[in-house]
Amino acid sequence: MRIAAPPRLEAAWQALQLWLGATVLPAQCALCGTGCPQALCAPCRAQYLGQARRRCRQCANPLADIEVAPLCGRCLRQRPAYDATVTAFDYAAPVDQLLLQLKFGARLALAPLLAELLYVAIQQQQGWEAPQLLCPVPLGPARLAERGFNQALEIARPLARLLDVPLQPRLALRVRETRAQSGVAPQERQANLAHAFAIAPDHGPLLPGCHVGIVDDVMSSGHTVNALAAACKRAGAARVSIVVAARTPPH
Ligand SMILES: [Zn+2]
Ligand SMILES: [Zn+2]
Repeated sequence: MRIAAPPRLEAAWQALQLWLGATVLPAQCALCGTGCPQALCAPCRAQYLGQARRRCRQCANPLADIEVAPLCGRCLRQRPAYDATVTAFDYAAPVDQLLLQLKFGARLALAPLLAELLYVAIQQQQGWEAPQLLCPVPLGPARLAERGFNQALEIARPLARLLDVPLQPRLALRVRETRAQSGVAPQERQANLAHAFAIAPDHGPLLPGCHVGIVDDVMSSGHTVNALAAACKRAGAARVSIVVAARTPPH
């Protein structure tokens, strides 16, 4: 008979593994496995993350070279609740590994790298308006307990330091545990997220007239950040910018 570890012991073991992964294990490039002191070696960085591409100013989807407007057709047809999006790279092999290893391999040392890549992308963004505060997309309590950390917060924390913008990790709450978006049919995704977020009552006074920056790891359909942006706007936010490490290109 297998005896389950007491929950507190299990949590301590998980914390120890996270700490070992972040500090003690030999450093190697997350993409090619070469031993190197950084999370990503210089050749991989130059090869996979070197070029910026033209993107829709509002949703960060890639724009074709022939498109001259700063917004994509989708945003022109139906404006999202958020006003701008900046991303560091497209969510595609092999750079998706940076996010997969962070999220599912608990390789937390990748979060400061992603924050730095985002910081570089922000510096390259023309007309970027700095938000007055940063808020990571919150996880529901069940998913947070299961994973042990919120990857959006892990990215937002060093990014807030780089941008010198206050971090408000408890601004937003997930009031309804939603199914993982990847497990929901595309046509049901928006409904899955409707009213998933609320603004924490004690943080409400921060929002009227405020420019909020929402941080997440990956943006796919955009329904998640759109639902959170809508909650911020309902609470009086004047502007919402989305800051996501990676953007899934539309199919
Ligand atoms: Zn490498
Ligand atoms: Zn767009």
